[in-house]
Amino acid sequence: MAYDRNNVFARILRGEIPCQKVYEDAHVLAFNDIRPQAPVHVLLFPKGEYVSVDGFAAKASAGEQAGFIVAVGKVARQDGLAESGYRTLANHGADPGQEVPHFHVHIFGGKRLGRMLPRE
Ligand code: 5GP
Repeated sequence: MAYDRNNVFARILRGEIPCQKVYEDAHVLAFNDIRPQAPVHVLLFPKGEYVSVDGFAAKASAGEQAGFIVAVGKVARQDGLAESGYRTLANHGADPGQEVPHFHVHIFGGKRLGRMLPRE
């Protein structure tokens, strides 16, 4: 899928839409989800134009890739989740219902999160 420069995260990156930023560095931006599903619900993504992890893994530089995972750890510690634990989740494409076509991970925490997937 081609990258859509008008997706909402691209617009937030350009400063066209506000966000509650929790972390930023040269390669990564993280902010609170507008419809939180847990006491902590952060969206973290690379600033580069990647629709899903496939493109990120194939095309991102080693610095972008390493920086991304380091940033996940930083945000989790910053939000006090290192002790209590947390969940990272990423939707890629149609089956999981990816809503925003810019690669991102959700970081959930701050309560018992229950089953990873609902029973069928
Ligand atoms: P996805 O289903 O693509 O993995 O998740 C997209 C997430 O982006 C959803 O949890 C949704 O609430 C969040 N979201 C959509 N639009 C906005 C927005 O304008 N601002 C913020 N902060 N989050 C958004």
